[in-house]
Amino acid sequence: MTSFDALGLAEPLRLALGKAGYLQPTPIQRQAIPPAMAGRDLLGIAQTGTGKTAAFALPILDRLAREPAHRRKLSTRVLVLSPTRELASQIADSFRTLGAGLKLRIETVFGGVPIARQIRMTESGLDILVATPGRLLDLVDRGALLLDHVQILVLDEADQMLDLGFIHALRKLHGLLPRRRQSLFFSATMPPAIRELAGRFLHDPVEVAVAPAATTAERVAQRVIFVNQAEKQALLTLTLRDPVHARTLVFTRTKHGADRVVRHLEGAGIRAAAIHGNKSQPQRERALEAFRRGELQALIATDIAARGIDIDDVSHVINFELPNVPEQYVHRIGRTARAGRAGDALSFCAPDERAYLKDIEKLTRQTITAAPLPPDFVAQAARLPKPVHERPAARTGEQRPARPAPSGEARGGGVAARPRRFGTGRRRGGRGGPRASAA
Ligand code: AMP
Repeated sequence: MTSFDALGLAEPLRLALGKAGYLQPTPIQRQAIPPAMAGRDLLGIAQTGTGKTAAFALPILDRLAREPAHRRKLSTRVLVLSPTRELASQIADSFRTLGAGLKLRIETVFGGVPIARQIRMTESGLDILVATPGRLLDLVDRGALLLDHVQILVLDEADQMLDLGFIHALRKLHGLLPRRRQSLFFSATMPPAIRELAGRFLHDPVEVAVAPAATTAERVAQRVIFVNQAEKQALLTLTLRDPVHARTLVFTRTKHGADRVVRHLEGAGIRAAAIHGNKSQPQRERALEAFRRGELQALIATDIAARGIDIDDVSHVINFELPNVPEQYVHRIGRTARAGRAGDALSFCAPDERAYLKDIEKLTRQTITAAPLPPDFVAQAARLPKPVHERPAARTGEQRPARPAPSGEARGGGVAARPRRFGTGRRRGGRGGPRASAA
C-alpha cells in the first residue's frame, strides 16, 4: 500500500499529516494526489467521507509550499467552490489543518453573513479562498475580488451545485477565470449534465473514481419500516428512546418538517436541534457543535444543510422521509459510515413513498430489509406526549409543492437567491411533480 511518504509531499505537509493522524492515504488520495501534483487536471468521482478533501488539499498545499509567491491585492491563488456554507467551512478547516506549517491566508466566503467583512478580507489578497458561488459572484460584481490570478480551481460536489441551481453562477465564473490554470473537479455522481460541466472546466483531465455512489451503501446496515405519514413522529420518538441511538442524524424533506420534528422530540424530552437554510449561520454552528459534543441526541437536517458536514461517530441515520432523488439517499446514509466505519440507517416509508424506495433499491442494487413496527406500537404511541397542534393544510401543502421550494445558501440577493433545480438526469415527473428538498 502506498504510504504518504511515497507521494513525495513537502515536509510541512508530512508533519501535519502525522499530527492529524492520517497514516495511510485513502484510495481517492492514492489516485488523485500524484496526477494533481504533476499539474494535471482532475475529474474525481468520490463522495464526502472518502477523504476527497485531502485528495485535493494536499497537492494544492504542496504546490503552494514549493512555489511561494507574494499575495496580490484582491486576488487569490487557489479558489475552491463549494455548494454549501458548512462544506466550505469544513474544506477551509482541512486546508488549515494540513497547511498548518505554511503560513497561508485561507478564508471562506458564503452567503447568510454580512458581506462587509468578506470585502475587507479579500483586500490584501489570499492564498486560498473557499467560497459558495453566489456570494463569490457578489464579491466579484462589487469589485472586491479579481479572479485573473487564480492558479488552481477546485469545484467540489459539482452534482450538488447543479441541484442547488448554481449552473448560471458557475458558467459566469468560468468566463472570469484565467485559461491557464489547473482545475480539480469532484462530484459524487456523474450524470450527463455534470460531465458537460466538467468538459467546460477541465482540460484533458485524469479521471479518478472510488466507490461509485451506489456501492458506498454496502457498508451501511439498512432497514425500512413501512408506516403511515401521520405515525412517523411517534415512531421516531419511540425509536430515539432506545439508547442505542446515541447520536442520530434525522433527515426531513423540508425546513418546516425539520422544525416540527424538533418540537415533537423536545416535547418528549429528547434533546434535538435542526439545521437548515432558515437558520442563521451561528444557529447552525451552535447546533452542529452541540451535536458533535454529544449534547444533542438527534440533529434534524434537510439534505442541503447536511450535505458534506463531517461529524464523526454518527451512530444512526434516520430518513424521516425518503428523498425523491435516489442519490440523495446514498449521501444521507453515507453520514453514518465515515472514514471506513460501518453504519446504520433506518428509513420510514409511507405508502406514497414506495416508488422512491424502489428507485433507491434500483440505484444501490440492494433490497432494503423491511423491519416491523415496534411491538405495541399503537399503545406506546398513544402514551406519548400530545403532539404540537398541526394545521391540516400544512402537510399536504408543504410536501407536495407544485415546484421545488427555494433553497440555497443566500436569500434576498445575488445569483443564489433563487436557485432552481436543474436536470441532473434523474428527475421525476408524473408522480405529482417533484418534491421540495429545500434546505
Ligand atoms: P472527506 O471525504 O474529505 O470529507 O473526509 C472524510 C473524513 O476522513 C474526514 O474526517 C477526514 O479528516 C478523514 N480523513 C481524510 N483522509 C484521511 C486519511 N488518509 N486517514 C484517515 N482519515 C482521513
